[in-house]
Amino acid sequence: MPGKKANQGRAKSPIQRRRGMASTPGAPGAYILQTEGLLFLEEEKGCSKKVSRDSPRCSEAMSDKKNEIPGKPNVLIVVPSTPQPESWWHALFSFLGNSYRVKNVFRDAIEDNASQARGESIVKKSETVQRNSMADPMYNMLLSTLEKLKIKKKLRSDSTARVNELVETVMKHMKETDSFWKVKRRRTGSHYENVKISQPDEFDVMLVVPVQSVDVRSYGPEGAYYTVALKNNPRRHLLESFVQEDGKTISANEMLLKFRTEVKKAVRHMEDVEVERKKRACPAVTLWIQGSDLRIGLDIVLGLEVHSSWPSTTQDGFMIDNWLGPKAKKNFKFEPFLLVPKYEGKGNEEMDGVCAKDTWRISFSHVEKEILKNHSSTKTCCKTGGAHCCRKQCLKLLKYLLVQLREKHPKELSKFCSYHAKSMLFHACCQRPSDSEWVGERLSECFQLLLQDFVGCLRDGHLPNFFIPTHNLLGSKPDKRTRGFLADLIEHEINNMFPIFQESL
Ligand SMILES: [Zn+2]
Repeated sequence: MPGKKANQGRAKSPIQRRRGMASTPGAPGAYILQTEGLLFLEEEKGCSKKVSRDSPRCSEAMSDKKNEIPGKPNVLIVVPSTPQPESWWHALFSFLGNSYRVKNVFRDAIEDNASQARGESIVKKSETVQRNSMADPMYNMLLSTLEKLKIKKKLRSDSTARVNELVETVMKHMKETDSFWKVKRRRTGSHYENVKISQPDEFDVMLVVPVQSVDVRSYGPEGAYYTVALKNNPRRHLLESFVQEDGKTISANEMLLKFRTEVKKAVRHMEDVEVERKKRACPAVTLWIQGSDLRIGLDIVLGLEVHSSWPSTTQDGFMIDNWLGPKAKKNFKFEPFLLVPKYEGKGNEEMDGVCAKDTWRISFSHVEKEILKNHSSTKTCCKTGGAHCCRKQCLKLLKYLLVQLREKHPKELSKFCSYHAKSMLFHACCQRPSDSEWVGERLSECFQLLLQDFVGCLRDGHLPNFFIPTHNLLGSKPDKRTRGFLADLIEHEINNMFPIFQESL
């Protein structure tokens, strides 16, 4: 099979890599072992004692292999505090078994240096690898931060079961209603993008109603908000009960109110579930679940899944041709788009006879999820057997940085959200489309570049929505002073080795 042959030539299997490593006289140093499972960092206290089956940290790593999630690439990093002989590494490899890919960061740096000495061009790679190798405290610290986030995520698994059960109950109830019987669960949001960095007690799900034959029009100049009107006979449409006096426009506000009523009905017999009071301009119904030792918050967001071509406002956006390729772009554009009942301002402003609170905000969260999952034109990036890049890690770190800074300055930074981070990453991926610009070892360099991009946007007051470039995510709010404040904070973090990350390690 020609395909198979080509594949063999390109990527070594995990076992081949490991064997290759073991047969090469290994330089003492840092090794990254990649596996499909949870991430463990052995660097924290230094791995000075010989790793054996008796080592508590290694047995912990082994026991967690049981919880491996297929398709979730992870890394086990072993950094001895003092250089160890080759036999030490051999003992470790045989202890860990065959399921790890091994990468010796130091050896790569040495090899790069050697080929540079031979006059081969390496485009700054050796410098980068050396700088970002395990010897680089910044790289180490960022990995430790990511590790901490992973552990937090692990704590979520207990809550997940309860949340899923509750969502199932709500879905079951919705199936019996007139307006929401077609509702589907859309697995969007950072939890499903595997970049969730918030507490284990926060969840969000989106329940969407698929709609066809609707007329979607931009509301306001930016292209972020829309009105939805029924094209054909409204009397026989699923959404007929939300049609306004004009006989065609669907009221977002009324649909959300009805949705809220139904969610309330669905959970009314559950003693441990409480429905939070309605918040203005919030497209979600928030439920609080009282667990045995944890209070879980669940946002159920209502959405319309519109099966028609994307609005013309998206025409100059979503420029992924250089990054993911024109074919991927074409395929994505066949996907429906989503609308959530969200508005700006007080809600009672009117335009063309439609009240702001009856408008919808456009969302491409399902496309964003797919892009994050398949974030390279190389289909193997971050997949089993393929190379690992640091795109998602950069996003997690940027999101986490914003969360941490917002915790310190809640009032000033309330208008900044994880969507700013995600959009920034997408723009950066288009600007630096090749995998070589995001190789795993360049994490600290890539993260700092991403932050510099973000600081630039903050100072300019311009971060276009990735899909709708006319929609400036840093438009009227937050104001110039606040943007400058955040830019200064980020620059301080960059220049001082991210004290905010170090504090919480
Ligand atoms: Zn990747």
